[in-house]
Amino acid sequence: MYYRDTWVEVDLDRIQQNVSRIKQHSGFDHLYAVVKANAYGHGDINVARAALDAGADMLSVAFLDEALHLRRAIKDVPILVMGAIRPEDLAVAAAANIDVTAHDLHWIESILAYDGVPANLHLKIDTGMNRIGLKDADSVHKACQLIDTNPKLNRVGLFTHFATADAQTRAGYDAQMQQLDALTAQVDLADFRYVHLSNSAALLRFGRQSVANTGRLGISMYGLPPSHEFELPFELKQAFSLHSRITQIKEIDAGSAVSYGATYVAGEKVRLGTLPIGYADGWLRYHQGRQVEINGVQYPIVGRICMDQCMVQIDDRVQIGDQVDLINDNLTVEDAARDLDTIGYEIVCSISDRVPRIYKQGGAVTGERNERFRPDVTGEE
Ligand SMILES: *Cc1c(COP(=O)(O)O)cnc(C)c1O
Repeated sequence: MYYRDTWVEVDLDRIQQNVSRIKQHSGFDHLYAVVKANAYGHGDINVARAALDAGADMLSVAFLDEALHLRRAIKDVPILVMGAIRPEDLAVAAAANIDVTAHDLHWIESILAYDGVPANLHLKIDTGMNRIGLKDADSVHKACQLIDTNPKLNRVGLFTHFATADAQTRAGYDAQMQQLDALTAQVDLADFRYVHLSNSAALLRFGRQSVANTGRLGISMYGLPPSHEFELPFELKQAFSLHSRITQIKEIDAGSAVSYGATYVAGEKVRLGTLPIGYADGWLRYHQGRQVEINGVQYPIVGRICMDQCMVQIDDRVQIGDQVDLINDNLTVEDAARDLDTIGYEIVCSISDRVPRIYKQGGAVTGERNERFRPDVTGEE
């Protein structure tokens, strides 16, 4: 139960359409749904279930904490932690049947004495991103040899990550593919159950690589383009929308200022509506001046956005309690990203956990909410 009229609505039907469309287009046997960062702000468990129903068959996240949270609700699906975990946490991951990333020789050496339940490892190859991963062919070869000395360690996967798959030209992608060949020359890729290279951009643009059988689908599952540098092969459907309601309406006279710092001064008599959403909800101060939509009409946010509230210049068509759309199909995530000189990823990830997520599926709003940070509710079935 929430007592504030500000919410995110996530359209699970759209997520499912995006997943099945992209899976079909890419031609992979398997597909990771990337649900890190609380499914890019959409709600990890509900999105994961929807994606799995639509054709994804595995889940991946950035951190072990995220994987454990998912595992409490979703039992029988492989979950991969794509980031580096602490060596001493391997037992925790393996006990929960969570696959982890072997990204570095020192890390691999420090788990060689591991003697718990069998642990699944995915070798991370750094082909040019320079973030995490093994960077030369000898290290990749040595990593495999070391892992194979311990029967409790299974080499189940091998992956890399593209830095510029969403760029205008494919030169960077091609260079990383070549580097992958060079780095894996001394190992047999057939030894790995899952070879996965592609993020959303590569899935949409390049399809299945002959050496790979799996991709990792993040941003485009949510209906957002990885960038505007390349043309999408088909339309994606934005699943995320952000809403609030007018709590108060007032008229101010010419010369009156609005909000902290008095940055907006009314040039004439102006009608204002106040919304219960602010920067602590991830509705950042940078959004000052952006339009919102009320009953199909757009109105600007005026004055500084406060921690919990902001003000909109309205007219007499707007009433207390009216729904205000801050992000919808007309005021898209991409519009907000462009205005803020950032990317859609950052807009959706920024909307904080103080804002409840409600879900639409089969055309109906389920009312099911993402209760993630409520200690007494874990999202278990
Ligand atoms: C986040 C992430 C992805 C997903 O990328 P998108 O661009 O959102 O599709 C895939 N792989 C790794 C390693 C990631 O960190």
